[in-house]
Amino acid sequence: MTIMKSEIQARSIEDQTLPVCLADIERAAARIRDRVTRTPLVRSASLSRLTGQPVHLKLETHQPIGAFKLRGATNAIVALDQTARERGLVTASTGNHGRAVACAAQMLGIPATICMSSLVPANKVEAIRALGADIRIVGVSQDDAQEEVDRLVADHGVTPIPPFDHVDIVAGQGTIGLEIVEDLPDLSTVLIPLSGGGLAAGIAVAVKALRPQARIIGISMERGAAMHASLTAGRPVAVREEQTLADSLGGGIGLSNHVTFPICRALLDDIVLLTEDEIAEGIRHIAREENEVAEGAGAVGVGAILAGKVKLSGRTVAILSGSNIAPDVYRHIIEGDAA
Ligand SMILES: *Cc1c(COP(=O)(O)O)cnc(C)c1O
Repeated sequence: MTIMKSEIQARSIEDQTLPVCLADIERAAARIRDRVTRTPLVRSASLSRLTGQPVHLKLETHQPIGAFKLRGATNAIVALDQTARERGLVTASTGNHGRAVACAAQMLGIPATICMSSLVPANKVEAIRALGADIRIVGVSQDDAQEEVDRLVADHGVTPIPPFDHVDIVAGQGTIGLEIVEDLPDLSTVLIPLSGGGLAAGIAVAVKALRPQARIIGISMERGAAMHASLTAGRPVAVREEQTLADSLGGGIGLSNHVTFPICRALLDDIVLLTEDEIAEGIRHIAREENEVAEGAGAVGVGAILAGKVKLSGRTVAILSGSNIAPDVYRHIIEGDAA
């Protein structure tokens, strides 16, 4: 299932000022240079052979926390003034954003608290504790954890670090776009895993500024694609959250979204949605043919190519956004044929 540019693009790029520009991303690149990994862009022999077009993979799986989110979190935290830093940081994410905030805070010597519900699995709790963050267990849902974040911000002036809808987060993720254009100046298409849209918005701003002809395609799962539903509706809407292999792509975009929604609306050329089997196929291919580990969210670009859901012409880059997948789920997919 796809929607075309004409449906999702309300206004052209020239008609409006977007919340993030190329200069913001260049500033972010200078800020985070010594603190995150400049990841490799590798040519995929198997996908190039399969499609008859050059396909390249951007390995954000090689970041220290196994996902690109270290870029945005580091940029947002470095940008804080001394007062905000001293008050400490807080977020409610238990996934890659939570790890990124914990890791960046530890690197910069700033205290961070990650709020989570009592239902979060012990291995996830320990992974974040190991990165030096304070863990605060509250309630029985992600909403309860977020309420605790809001309380700490309101009552104690602690600094919240949001997962995507923030100009410094988007600018940090956009540094991937600068690196891709540097490594592959004649790129034609970028395939980007899409959830809240921080990754897609950042890369799109950088790539479209430097290579206006390049196509930017967001990839989500069929089960609960919030940005796709919102762009179709013309405003941020809530979706029902469902179990998916691409668990890092779950969750809403925020009903008061003011950064990533307008950028995705202006700059995404298309959105592709994948079934669970197509996501599993992507994970398996990346393991067997590319010798890399990708989580479901990180495999959707390759899954979309294998499923024939994107038309390739010219040099294509798929972002392998992360590698943090539960070992039992991974083993099951690699050994089996079904999702
Ligand atoms: C967060 C995340 C995404 C989606 O990023 P958004 O900025 O929310 O669109 C994709 N892949 C992985 C591995 C992630 O952790």
